[in-house]
Amino acid sequence: MSSISVTRVQQSRLDSIDFDNLPFGRTFSDHMFVSEYSDGEWKNDRIEPFGHFTMHPASMVLHYGQAIFEGMKASKHQDGTPLLMRPEQHAQRLNRSAERMMMPAFPEERFLRAVNELVAMDAGWIPPAEGWALYIRPYMYATDEFIGVRPSQTYRFCIFTGPVGPYYAEPVSLLVEQNYVRAVPGGTGEAKAAGNYAGSLRPAYEAQQKGFDQVMWMGGKDMMEVNEVGTMNIFFVIGDEVITPQTDGAILKGITRDCFLTILKDKGIKATSRTITIDEVAEAYDKGELKEIFGAGTAAVVSHVAKLQYGDKSMVLPPVADRKIGNMLKAHLNALRSGKAADPHGWMVPAVSAEVTA
Ligand SMILES: *Cc1c(COP(=O)(O)O)cnc(C)c1O
Repeated sequence: MSSISVTRVQQSRLDSIDFDNLPFGRTFSDHMFVSEYSDGEWKNDRIEPFGHFTMHPASMVLHYGQAIFEGMKASKHQDGTPLLMRPEQHAQRLNRSAERMMMPAFPEERFLRAVNELVAMDAGWIPPAEGWALYIRPYMYATDEFIGVRPSQTYRFCIFTGPVGPYYAEPVSLLVEQNYVRAVPGGTGEAKAAGNYAGSLRPAYEAQQKGFDQVMWMGGKDMMEVNEVGTMNIFFVIGDEVITPQTDGAILKGITRDCFLTILKDKGIKATSRTITIDEVAEAYDKGELKEIFGAGTAAVVSHVAKLQYGDKSMVLPPVADRKIGNMLKAHLNALRSGKAADPHGWMVPAVSAEVTA
């Protein structure tokens, strides 16, 4: 196995960062991990100062879109240890995305080693407060300098990180979207492929023009089945049941989604992964049984839905303060990330540096 060569920054930028004022996604830590693929193998694993890449104008990613990514977070245990949550799940999902897009797998053990080294090295960038985190962005893209549709033969894999504050968002209003579609079974919706997100921008923009924050993605043959919300998995609380759509090839298999289903089961709360139609949601609303709707994902953890618009029907949900499930899940996940909650499934792992060849 190749080792990681390390070039450290001469001067850390950490002192210049205002941790009380962190816009999401605009602050980047000192170092990044990079590896390049050619002749059938990943080469030159290295950690180097965060900085620009140069790019050839014919670089295949710019034309045919072979690009995939992951999103994960490092947090701090209350004793100061940097922690990762289920990092192997992210490594495996990256490789499932790669397979779908005809890109080479990045070996799981090298992915884990890279994340561990990078996070251990830039651990000073992990904000210590609960709910804050170091956001980690692994991604891969095609680099062949070639015009013509075929899989690239060269790729770059990179991981960079940046501190983020508690992603506090107002509860959102959603528009049920039955014209545009995010993904279909057999498509690329299960992959974190860059093009999926480009394709979601027009529907989101049009929903925003109509006064909504995001779209509720629909699927199934009559566009009646709920899929996701924006770039998050979706959960409903109807009566005593917590429901999230079962993954069917169109829905991204969220790791937060999986954590939530497990936490709910552990607590003896009925949690089901099954088809849920918009008619069932509307009916539950009319009966007064629709208690909560929320999105689930790594960045925001839980994003509460305040209002859902389905055609002429406006469904206004109970105040966030009255919601039991979404608030409990968010608090539980944040407590796991700060080492305050018991971790029966061994999800939290310390980020440690092995011997690095300097
Ligand atoms: C990343 C993502 C999610 C959430 O996945 P997590 O692993 O929980 O962060 C859900 N839906 C889409 C479309 C996504 O891209």
